Amino acid sequence: MNTTLIDNFGREINYARLSVTDRCDFRCVYCMAEKMTFLSKKDVLSLEELYQTASALVASGIKKIRLTGGEPLIRNNIMWLIEKISQLEGLEELTLTTNGSQLVKYAKQLRSFGIKRINISIDSLDAEKFQQITRTGKLQPVLNGIDAAIDAGFESIKLNTVILKNRNDDEIISLVNFAKSKSIDIAFIEEMPLGDIVEHDRLLAFCSSDEIRHIIEQTLPLTPSNKKTNGPATYFKLADSHSHIGFISPHSHNFCGDCNRIRVTVEGQLLLCLGNDHSIDLRGILRDMHYDQKQLIQAIQKSMEIKPERHYFNLAEKPQIVRFMNATGG
Ligand code: SAM
Ligand code: SF4
Repeated sequence: MNTTLIDNFGREINYARLSVTDRCDFRCVYCMAEKMTFLSKKDVLSLEELYQTASALVASGIKKIRLTGGEPLIRNNIMWLIEKISQLEGLEELTLTTNGSQLVKYAKQLRSFGIKRINISIDSLDAEKFQQITRTGKLQPVLNGIDAAIDAGFESIKLNTVILKNRNDDEIISLVNFAKSKSIDIAFIEEMPLGDIVEHDRLLAFCSSDEIRHIIEQTLPLTPSNKKTNGPATYFKLADSHSHIGFISPHSHNFCGDCNRIRVTVEGQLLLCLGNDHSIDLRGILRDMHYDQKQLIQAIQKSMEIKPERHYFNLAEKPQIVRFMNATGG
């Protein structure tokens, strides 16, 4: 069997982000509406179905899986799934993106399953501001979670931060210094227009990677780095430290040319691009009475024919992608 996924533009697709829940204990203002209706249980893939999906992805040529959500660590029995996926033959790397709220409980166990790298999202070091941005989150458990991850000995820990103008743009330097003090990395993500939010105007709040880099460079020297992860970040090395500073720039520096990614939502929808609607329904195949893994693999392979060349985001228009990031799997 051909175990490489190549799309119509010659790109090798070897990285999948698998969403294990659309639910979350936070309601970050750029990610969700304040009042959310979450999926009903019957529409959500069971842990067993998620495992079958991961297994078919790997059998199709996926080498790296990142678990995401929603908040992956609040799904019941998630450790069962993580352990099972970590044992899949052919999977070279399993990683996780989390808001950190449950890391005190789970960091050690995650590390013991062979997870080497972990992303933790944090947008503010000020308790009040943190709560305003996450609406329901508390800062201290996340800070404790970051320390628990450091103690657990992950090879790489990266903070993910979304900067919003007049919200947390005054914290860029303190967030970088925080990462430096912990000898971990930090990546700044430009806000994307996924889902219709009313809380702020995405155009007014937008802070480009170049603006952020300029602010950092006024105080802290950055040198280009050849650090590469599976994702689309461009990295710089922070002087006199072990930390790298990443910039994920879906607006200002389109990164589609070397896209190596696909996503699977927790409804079993295989999304070929974050910024487009092209998708394939895997749940129908998984729930077919005569389920056969070969069909799932064939569907994943065939999906390469419809992977779009690139995304087009325009903050001035109403979002064309109506699903929120928590439903997409960030
Ligand atoms: N709950 C986990 C977390 O927050 O890390 C994992 C899921 S979350 C959707 C993954 C990442 O997407 C987070 O770093 C979050 O900041 C980012 N994110 C969410 N909505 C976004 C948006 N509209 N634009 C850019 N990044 C977004
Ligand atoms: Fe939850 Fe992550 Fe979305 Fe925040 S960004 S609401 S933590 S899924």
